[in-house]
Amino acid sequence: MLERGEVANSWRRERWDSLRLLTPSRQSRLPGVRYEGPDPDGYMTAGEVADLIEGFAAVSRAPVRTGENVTSVRRADDGYLVTASGGEIACRAVVIASGACNRPSVPRFSGEVPASVEQLTPFDYRDPAKLPDGGVLVVGASATGVQLAAELQRSGRPVTLSVGEHVRLPRTYRGRDVLWWMDASGLWDQRYDEIDDLTRARRLPSPQLVGTPERATLDLNALTAMGVELVGRWAMVRDGRALFSGGLRNMFSLADLKMNRLLDTFDEWALVSGRDAEFAAPERSAPIRVPDTARLQLDLGSGEIRSIVWATGFRPDYGWLDVPVVDAKGQLRHEGGVVGSPGLYALGLPVLRRRRSTFICGVEDDAREVIEYLAGYLAGR
Ligand SMILES: Cc1cc2nc3c(=O)[nH]c(=O)nc-3n(C[C@H](O)[C@H](O)[C@H](O)COP(=O)(O)OP(=O)(O)OC[C@H]3O[C@@H](n4cnc5c(N)ncnc54)[C@H](O)[C@@H]3O)c2cc1C
Repeated sequence: MLERGEVANSWRRERWDSLRLLTPSRQSRLPGVRYEGPDPDGYMTAGEVADLIEGFAAVSRAPVRTGENVTSVRRADDGYLVTASGGEIACRAVVIASGACNRPSVPRFSGEVPASVEQLTPFDYRDPAKLPDGGVLVVGASATGVQLAAELQRSGRPVTLSVGEHVRLPRTYRGRDVLWWMDASGLWDQRYDEIDDLTRARRLPSPQLVGTPERATLDLNALTAMGVELVGRWAMVRDGRALFSGGLRNMFSLADLKMNRLLDTFDEWALVSGRDAEFAAPERSAPIRVPDTARLQLDLGSGEIRSIVWATGFRPDYGWLDVPVVDAKGQLRHEGGVVGSPGLYALGLPVLRRRRSTFICGVEDDAREVIEYLAGYLAGR
């Protein structure tokens, strides 16, 4: 196992200070290792996740070689030649487990933002003090965007949040964590080959969730109540102005509709499984309030906005992979983790084999199945 940094590198180096998992601690499980602390319904800090992964590395005696940056993987006669900091390794098979979120995804027009406005990605962000005083434009309203918008607004900086397509979820539903429902109802285990529009499922943004001790819901209504201003999707920069799309009403009703459909599925499961009486009565949140007037443009040179945080998603980095298996959008082509080159496999990508694949609790089942393919390949089957 080659790791360019240290064990649990992404959790030690690439997360902001206040980040807690959005998955409850009881779902932080790896083979033989699970959360043993006092609050299984709470949400672990990034440091606690790193400790959990380090614990797993020790228990499993994984042969990790840290500080080994892989700079090239290419086909060789009977397998692959891997070039890493420590030298070259010839091997018959390679598992790509380099992560789905190696780089922040930032729109090209960020290059047209006036130099007077500071720009950050979630990889640069640590805490509000990192930003200048004054207005902040947070771009993107998925898990990262809503969490950072709330933290920055609380720090006294007026936040404008640019909202594109998003997934709205309540933190708890009928007395249980919403991700408990995803788990218990089996929805998270839906397999990649059972999903109608797999490409779309793999591109779905992360849900608007935050892990706080109060188990609070952090939707757009909560942000508006805190004083965050909502604008539409940032479409382009023209003459130093940010131009936002209209259509917030449609976007909000779509997110509400999808959330309510998901909650209907949970209710149906509770009934069919005979567990309905265990839970509080079904409930529905108020629809997201559409602002009376949403601004369609913002003068980036006026001094109102002093910094921009791009919470526009993450992407993998395969710059080191010299095998033609990456598509034009930079995503690995694979069928349930089996990559289209003999002996090449992947783990940890969105909906790799089931809906829970990119979550910590998703890797175990995926790994078991992918390793079966790998073992079969090595055995010549
Ligand atoms: C902001 C954020 C919040 C998240 N919150 C949650 C959550 O609440 N719950 C949850 O279950 N999941 C969450 N996730 C998803 C989470 O990242 C995964 O669950 C888990 O960390 C994925 O592990 P991984 O090993 O597949 O990828 P990573 O953690 O990204 O690990 C990949 C490793 O590969 C190494 N690497 C990459 N390229 C090379 C190379 N060329 N050479 C050598 N080494 C290399 C990296 O250094 C890294 O250590 C979150 C992700 C992000 C980005």
